[in-house]
Amino acid sequence: MVDNIDLKSYAKINLTLDVLAKRKDGYHEVEMIMQTIDLSDKLSFSKIKKGIEIITDHPDVPTDNSNLIYKAAKMLFGEFGITEGIRVNLTKRIPVAAGLAGGSSNAAATLVAINQLWGLNLSKEELATRAANLGADIPFCINGGTQLATGIGTELKILDQAPEIYLVLVNPPFEVSTAEVYGNLDLHKINIHPNKDKVLEGLKDKRSDIIIKWSSNLLENVTLKRYPDVKRLKEKVDSLTSKALMSGSGPTVLGFVRGIKEANKVKNILEQELDNKHHIVVSKTNNKGIEEI
Ligand code: ATP
Repeated sequence: MVDNIDLKSYAKINLTLDVLAKRKDGYHEVEMIMQTIDLSDKLSFSKIKKGIEIITDHPDVPTDNSNLIYKAAKMLFGEFGITEGIRVNLTKRIPVAAGLAGGSSNAAATLVAINQLWGLNLSKEELATRAANLGADIPFCINGGTQLATGIGTELKILDQAPEIYLVLVNPPFEVSTAEVYGNLDLHKINIHPNKDKVLEGLKDKRSDIIIKWSSNLLENVTLKRYPDVKRLKEKVDSLTSKALMSGSGPTVLGFVRGIKEANKVKNILEQELDNKHHIVVSKTNNKGIEEI
């Protein structure tokens, strides 16, 4: 059995994000078409004698027991009585607290790595069931690609793979708390919901124009009101691309474009117009889950 493994964990965007109801337990019933994109973190895992050690190049990522990597490792070590330890070297490229599921994808990679390093022989479904205990976005990250998430976001159905769509991501220099956004969502005041069926048709017919046209995020109702900077950013990105959309609960805004050339052009314009604290990345949809390097 090997002692080291290097994995890539991909960021996600939401082609649609809808909230259907607030449950009695405080969670929200969601309906989301989730999509991985070609922006990834690299994680190098190695067996050590004892403990869970996290090393990272990113100053905003905690290395203690609040890191989702730590929680994922602790959960599997506990369940399977593993007494050895693990060292995780995380190279962070996915912006942090950006609505791109960076931490969730790292946790998914940790489950995959431990499963492999200790020969646990858990199937992807069995890993996903355990992942749901750590966070709603984590099960999706295991298989990635294009999936419909319902329930609290952990009931998943693999969909027709999205065609290749280029996008420009703009992450502004502040964080938006997902809990705060959901806490301020008043479903009684919202009467327009995303039309996921149109996006599903677009996916079936591999029509990126249809997918882009009907992509939609209900949480913009909250975030754009509470954070006028995100609203202005969305308007700017919208004026330069086919369409702008907020990712997750924000604050990242993405603009869909027609190809790599247009993507680079938009990136250059935004770099000139926005201050250099904004993180601007060209990316595209992919069909990848946690992947060995
Ligand atoms: P989601 O889209 O799933 O809501 P996000 O992309 O908005 O997630 P993350 O990048 O996962 O947000 O980070 C949210 C917070 O979680 C950060 O402020 C950070 O302190 C903490 N965190 C814990 N583990 C990690 C990790 N492995 N990588 C990044 N942040 C982490």
